[in-house]
Amino acid sequence: MSVKKFDPMPTKDGYFGEYGGSFIPPQLESVLNEITYEYEKIRNDENFIKELSDLYKHYVGRPSPIFFAKRISNMVGGADIYLKREDLNHTGAHKINHCLGEALLAKKMGKTKLIAETGAGQHGVALATAAALVGLECDIFMGEVDINKEHPNVVRMKILGAKVIPVSHGRQTLKEAVDSAFEAYLKDPVNQFYAIGSVVGPHPFPMMVRDFQQIVGEEAKKQFMEMTGKHPDNLVACVGGGSNAIGLFTPFLEEEDVNIYGVEPAGRGFKDGDHAATLTLGKPGIIHGFKCYLLQDENGDPGKVYSVASGLDYPGVGPQHSYLKDINRVNYDYINDDEAIDAFFTLSRLEGIIPAIESSHAVAYAIKLAKKEGKGKSILINLSGRGDKDIDFVVENFGDKYI
Ligand SMILES: *Cc1c(COP(=O)(O)O)cnc(C)c1O
Repeated sequence: MSVKKFDPMPTKDGYFGEYGGSFIPPQLESVLNEITYEYEKIRNDENFIKELSDLYKHYVGRPSPIFFAKRISNMVGGADIYLKREDLNHTGAHKINHCLGEALLAKKMGKTKLIAETGAGQHGVALATAAALVGLECDIFMGEVDINKEHPNVVRMKILGAKVIPVSHGRQTLKEAVDSAFEAYLKDPVNQFYAIGSVVGPHPFPMMVRDFQQIVGEEAKKQFMEMTGKHPDNLVACVGGGSNAIGLFTPFLEEEDVNIYGVEPAGRGFKDGDHAATLTLGKPGIIHGFKCYLLQDENGDPGKVYSVASGLDYPGVGPQHSYLKDINRVNYDYINDDEAIDAFFTLSRLEGIIPAIESSHAVAYAIKLAKKEGKGKSILINLSGRGDKDIDFVVENFGDKYI
């Protein structure tokens, strides 16, 4: 299939093709317009860029390295597999990249409190960290199911001074946590800043979070060229809302020699409620203030979703991914729970790197792709986070098979 001309920016109303936009209650309109206005002002401001770059370097530990995973590549016997090590960032995932950006913006706008949802707890921990660093209060909404599953991250957030607010309606996971955080935000949008955890939500968040994550792809492009003298032939990243994926992809979107793959969770299979493969099985619809591919129930409401990876467990997906699917620039495919857990142990045992279960979806896909691509080709995975948060859950549920 041919690729249509890529248009990188949303329109001024936040549209990527037909997706994105801003479907919000009237009382939020002026507040979001102000966030857009202030963000447009600072995104090209030298002082802001320097402040954020300094934090990336001295606080997060950027640039994160690229590692050639030789033993996995040898095991597969196909394409060479490389890892962009976002798992080595302070707080253990890519999310700190956008949390610092959002926290600095909120502080500059005179807000007093950051609020957000969290799935696996990674966004909550990263935001609580950023809040502590810049001196803001922080409320994190989290589903009860995830609270039980991701206990270490809950403790971390509390140690960092954030308030963790349990969400006990519906499936008690990520979607319900967003619903509750949104409700709390509506009560005081002037003093609070809703720091959305992915490239989702109303304009300007999909654009802003993408811009903050783009550092991943910019570094990777340069590092990979220095290591190999070429672009990677293939990029692979897991897609929940899509922030780690778009961060890696963005600087490569116009490079026609680079194939790009986004990997969604196929969970336990393709029965309704057993997966979160939004781009594969969803239809355009509206969720949480924006238009995107959406898994829907028979009434057109957001459908029930499930994945072994809490951070991928969302019925919507970023509007830019929805657009990139339609123009055929990115291939969206899926990996199920068992394949992801298998990759979790493979990476741990062949490379000494315990990946997040989310990132394990990308690893599993890359292993399959490496076989298909064959020798002489390369694959760069965005290893979006580390698996420390997942070890108890994995051992409890899959230990019998692997340990
Ligand atoms: C949150 C999270 C994801 C999923 O979010 P995206 O916005 O799709 O990147 C993936 N990996 C890790 C480690 C996460 O914490």
